Amino acid sequence: MRSITIGAGLLAAWLASDAALAQTAEQLKNDHNTPGDVLTYGMGYSHQRFSPLTRINRDNVKRLVPAWAYSMADNNGQQSHALVMDGVMYITDHAKTVALDALTGKQIWKSVIEYPPETTRVVCCGIVNRGAALFEGKLFRTTLDAHVIALDIKTGKEIWRTKSADPKDGYSMTVAPLVANGVVIAGVAGAEYGHRGYLEGYDPQTGKVLWRTWTVPAPGEKGSETWPGDSWKTGGGSTWLTGSYDPELDLVYWGTGNPAPWNPLGRKGDNLYTNSILAIRPKTGEIVWYYQTTPGDPFDYDGVNELVQAELPINGQMRKVVMQAHRNGFFYVLDRTNGKLLAANKFVKVNWADSIDLETGRPVWSAETKSVFEKGPGHKVRIWPALVGGKNWAPMSYSPITRLAYVNSADFGWDYEALPLEEVAKLKPGVTPYFGVKREYVFDHPDGRGHLRAIDPLTGKSKWAIPFKSPNMAGTLVTAGGVVFTGRLTGEFMAVDAETGKILWEFNLGAGTVGQPVTLEHNGKQYVTITSGSSGPYVQRVGDPNLANVPPGGMVWTFKLFED
Ligand code: CA
Ligand code: CA
Repeated sequence: MRSITIGAGLLAAWLASDAALAQTAEQLKNDHNTPGDVLTYGMGYSHQRFSPLTRINRDNVKRLVPAWAYSMADNNGQQSHALVMDGVMYITDHAKTVALDALTGKQIWKSVIEYPPETTRVVCCGIVNRGAALFEGKLFRTTLDAHVIALDIKTGKEIWRTKSADPKDGYSMTVAPLVANGVVIAGVAGAEYGHRGYLEGYDPQTGKVLWRTWTVPAPGEKGSETWPGDSWKTGGGSTWLTGSYDPELDLVYWGTGNPAPWNPLGRKGDNLYTNSILAIRPKTGEIVWYYQTTPGDPFDYDGVNELVQAELPINGQMRKVVMQAHRNGFFYVLDRTNGKLLAANKFVKVNWADSIDLETGRPVWSAETKSVFEKGPGHKVRIWPALVGGKNWAPMSYSPITRLAYVNSADFGWDYEALPLEEVAKLKPGVTPYFGVKREYVFDHPDGRGHLRAIDPLTGKSKWAIPFKSPNMAGTLVTAGGVVFTGRLTGEFMAVDAETGKILWEFNLGAGTVGQPVTLEHNGKQYVTITSGSSGPYVQRVGDPNLANVPPGGMVWTFKLFED
């Protein structure tokens, strides 16, 4: 029945198990309940990155040792979310997709991706890819030069390839696609190059584009009144992180990025639907509801961060919520059935807004933010958080046991000044970075530039917070064993007590990590996987002296308990 022939006894036994063909719509929907595989980005459609496994727990995690490692033979950032199905692990980067024996790390196949070298000119923040999606025998992924491709999961052979956009127009793709209700959905990066954002749905069999939903409306369309003149044409609103999916409501939750250029003086208005949470019907791309977090954003508070679903007790009633730890420093909780805002609280130092009005859902701008618009070009303000955000892209996890979200925060600000519009007019879409602002970071937190935080979603308060000299840019994973896994730019992969924040275990990966940890079990043993190899705007641009002696180099690491 299976045609993978690699001769590994353990894998052959696994393949013979009842896990075969774990890629139907029903199995994707149940992914979070099946710890023997990892079929979806986010370890389940809700993106909780919570595992019910307890074999590795707070008492024994100090016995974690490497089971195997695999070289990605690449010095760019490795951000791929590992998927594991029928004993085979799938990892992507910008240049290839690999299938590995999940128990030994041996390569089964490697499928190389070629793209024009000039593509990297429109990639602001790391030459990366964040992972794949699986469905009915195919693996779907995006390419840096804005194609979506389908590979045969048994051989890595390309089945179809659809060009979504042209890098010359400022578009690139780094996102892991989402398969929801039988549609492959993917978004674009490029607000830093003056593109106009959109989200697309593709037929998994043929790659045909089924729909395209623009995140910036054209004149005459709903929301177009929030864009003066021609500013919509280069309005940004990228869609570069994977959305979550509620199969019961049949809604996909997808975050949209900052308006472009960063300089807001030529696009005064709300700039819909940038920096918004969109609830989308996967079959049609229809926007069922939206909530805009940061209208008219001057600060690159790129609202794409992961949208984690949970059931939370609010005023004595369980509510279906969707949560976002936003770049803008607020932790948002919304009713995911209708988009109503339930809570929005600061989880780091914030001064761009004083608060979020729960009735209107709108931010109450601070004097600093008002002055950007009132005083115009040449006026300098000091703003928290910086453009990197209170939290960058690396996903948080959420434990339904502790009811806490585990977030790697960045704790610093910036000095910001909008340039005159004559300067902004010189920016060329698809050619020059679309900023139009002067900027300098301000590192003022006495404990360090970042924290690992355990945040109460309804208050934004940290139950505990571990300070780090450099902010962590890796995702987090939490388990029923009471352990949070994450990693550091200096290379340590860490296990932390989910209740207390005590660091229980560390291992040096040999390079910094910006990866997304996942866990699974086989034959009663539990495995934890993460990639090493770092990149990103913080690593590339900030010049953190703490990172000066950390080498590059991509690896996939898998750990298990000693003697397990
Ligand atoms: Ca699963
Ligand atoms: Ca951005």
